[in-house]
Amino acid sequence: MFFSNFSLRTRVFAFFICLLVVSTFNFGMMTYLENKSINNFEQVTNTNSILILKGDLLDNIVNAESGQRGYLITSNKNYLNPFQNGKAKAQWSLNKLQELTISDPTQQEMLSALETLIDKKFSEMQTTIDLHFSGRKDESIALVNTNEGIELMERVRSILQSLNDDLIYKRDIQQKELITLQENMRLIFIFELVFFAVVLLFLALIVSKTILQPINKLIVSVKAFELDRKFIPVQISSRDELGLLAQTFNNMAAKASSAASEMKGVIKKTEKQRDQALIESISDPLTGLSNRKFMEVELKKLMLSSKRYETALSLIMLDLDHFKKVNDTYGHVIGDLVLKRISKLIKRTMRACDLTIRYGGEEFIIVMDHTASDEAMIKAETLRKDVEGLEIEELGGHPITISLGVTQLCQEDDSIESFVARADEALYKAKTSGRNQCQLI
Ligand code: GH3
Ligand code: MG
Ligand code: MG
Repeated sequence: MFFSNFSLRTRVFAFFICLLVVSTFNFGMMTYLENKSINNFEQVTNTNSILILKGDLLDNIVNAESGQRGYLITSNKNYLNPFQNGKAKAQWSLNKLQELTISDPTQQEMLSALETLIDKKFSEMQTTIDLHFSGRKDESIALVNTNEGIELMERVRSILQSLNDDLIYKRDIQQKELITLQENMRLIFIFELVFFAVVLLFLALIVSKTILQPINKLIVSVKAFELDRKFIPVQISSRDELGLLAQTFNNMAAKASSAASEMKGVIKKTEKQRDQALIESISDPLTGLSNRKFMEVELKKLMLSSKRYETALSLIMLDLDHFKKVNDTYGHVIGDLVLKRISKLIKRTMRACDLTIRYGGEEFIIVMDHTASDEAMIKAETLRKDVEGLEIEELGGHPITISLGVTQLCQEDDSIESFVARADEALYKAKTSGRNQCQLI
């Protein structure tokens, strides 16, 4: 995406600049239109005021004329008041009209012509009044009869009508302009609403695409890594801060992940070595059977358990007969081989739960839990026969036999030594009784 090439800071800055430019333009435009609208409205109001004043001007002249006529007919001086009032007000209206139409040369021209006519009209009326006042009534009537006053009034009315037409024509134009202006303002307002909605939508889309979605991707990867050290590379290709963050996370997580798997390997290896060391520490290296050290620990536990739960526990001690001779005849290597074969046989003949121990040299101990001496004797006999029947090629038919001493744990046995000693005693008995046999004590 195009925007992804810029940093978040640049994007935010550019966005605010755009917003500022659009807002300033918008503000300027609205202010301009508003001023124009106010101006237009003022013009319409002004034109309406001129129209009213124009009417007032005519009314005042007519009022003044009525006063003049009343005086001339009745000689009542009271009629001079409306004349004077009308004259003053007409003058005021004319001045005001000139003031309000200052910017319109056509209207100014009309008013200038009107001023001359009005002056003449009032001067004519004043002359008739003056003549009447000084007793020259005939001259006054004669002046009225010249119809100069009526003509002047008609010309005044005609100019006022032209002014009226001009004003109404211009006011219509101004009103149309005002309506157009207001419509334009409404259109611009609607356009701005749509424009801002589109900008906001576009902005939301960009924010979602370039900020929210990448952040979500980051969260998914970081969470997966935090929970179960699972490294899911974050796929963010943008060159902004988030892209940099994702790249850094990917590098870090990749390193941590490989370090973790290396560590796992090391731990596994160490555990294997530890287990091996443990096995070796309790095993006899030649035969693979448990060693004496292991027996001492385990036998102690079995003796305690047997006494506590009153279960039978038996022990077989066995020794290879005349093994020295085997060594002497076939050598130590073959001797070792014989020891291995016998050990294998013991393992195979006895139950998996029995303890099979190389007690030392060519002596072995088998501990049988939950087993009484008679059952142990049967097992011992089986084993003896198995050994007797064993054919070891390397010995070229030389028979191998074993002597076995069997005993069961009794209440008086308070140590391993006494228990083992009794089995040893039984073994001795088997040896002295001719070997290759089982004896029970
Ligand atoms: P007996 O019937 O009275 O037990 O006679 P024996 O010859 O077996 O008894 P003795 O105690 O005189 O000899 C035991 C021999 O076992 C002596 C020793 O060389 C041999 N031996 C002990 N440990 C090992 C071993 O690890 N390897 C080999 N090859 N021989 C061993
Ligand atoms: Mg022996
Ligand atoms: Mg021995």
